Amino acid sequence: MLFDTTHIAIDELKAAESRERNIGLMVARLDKIHPVVSGNKLFKLHYFLEEALLHNKPVVTFGGAYSNHLAATAYACREAGLPCTGIVRGEAPARLSPTLQGCIQDGMKLIFISREEYGRMSANMNGSADSYREAIEVNSLIIPEGGYHPLGARGASLITDLTAKAGADYIITAVGTATTLAGILLKASPHQQVIAIPVLKNFTDIHERLLYLNGQMDYKNLHIWNEYHFGGYAKKTPELIQFMNELYSQFGLPTDFVYTAKMLFAVMDKIKNNYFPPGCRILCLHTGGLQGNQSLPGGSLIF
Ligand SMILES: *Cc1c(COP(=O)(O)O)cnc(C)c1O
Repeated sequence: MLFDTTHIAIDELKAAESRERNIGLMVARLDKIHPVVSGNKLFKLHYFLEEALLHNKPVVTFGGAYSNHLAATAYACREAGLPCTGIVRGEAPARLSPTLQGCIQDGMKLIFISREEYGRMSANMNGSADSYREAIEVNSLIIPEGGYHPLGARGASLITDLTAKAGADYIITAVGTATTLAGILLKASPHQQVIAIPVLKNFTDIHERLLYLNGQMDYKNLHIWNEYHFGGYAKKTPELIQFMNELYSQFGLPTDFVYTAKMLFAVMDKIKNNYFPPGCRILCLHTGGLQGNQSLPGGSLIF
């Protein structure tokens, strides 16, 4: 690992709703590992970076203008001394997002391509470098968008090892590409229930994704909660923003509006509705992503 991950903080969230029900509500603070390469992204990158370093290959990856994955890759490559290129969805804007500015500062070369072309590329992302040949060096190591690849899942599985000390009955994560979820499922024990909260609307292919990532799709301990996407990817409501501010003022816990806020909102909602049995221990993964809050209008958040 490029960063110290041996002491992941596991904070207890002392919410009235969980305490009343004698539920241990814990948050694994992967966000604290590093402000940019935070959370799950570092883990998903782990084996890719190892491979790139071993064979001294430049790295190429993909993402949108606010992508946590691009930000993490840029920073991690800088730390590892690897050249890297980010292929960005959409034409270059007049003013770059704070995320992309950070990527450039970290030495990432950016190539902007149209949404149509990007769509074609990402559809073929697991293939050889052929489809990106014009944009990148032949010898590059290609990391699919969001680390969506069996190697990414293997990296994410390290999260389960490093948080095993929490003794959780439930492990809960937000889902984007499902790579982190796949990693958790690789190492969770059969009696641990794994709860997935998609942050996209109409996200119906989680099982197919798991089959690609892990070679297995029927996990008896997997539960998917599809009703907490708040309108879709990166969509938000005033209620969600208010919830984030409450989490911060009550517990000092910062969240991001795309992933972790929706996940924790879902968990609190299910606790209130007595989904969880009294006495159980819940481990929520704070998968990071705080840099993405820079896309919110100024003053939305109190942190
Ligand atoms: C990318 C991301 C996720 C989703 O992870 P997947 O492995 O793509 O499902 C969750 N939380 C945060 C903060 C992220 O940046």
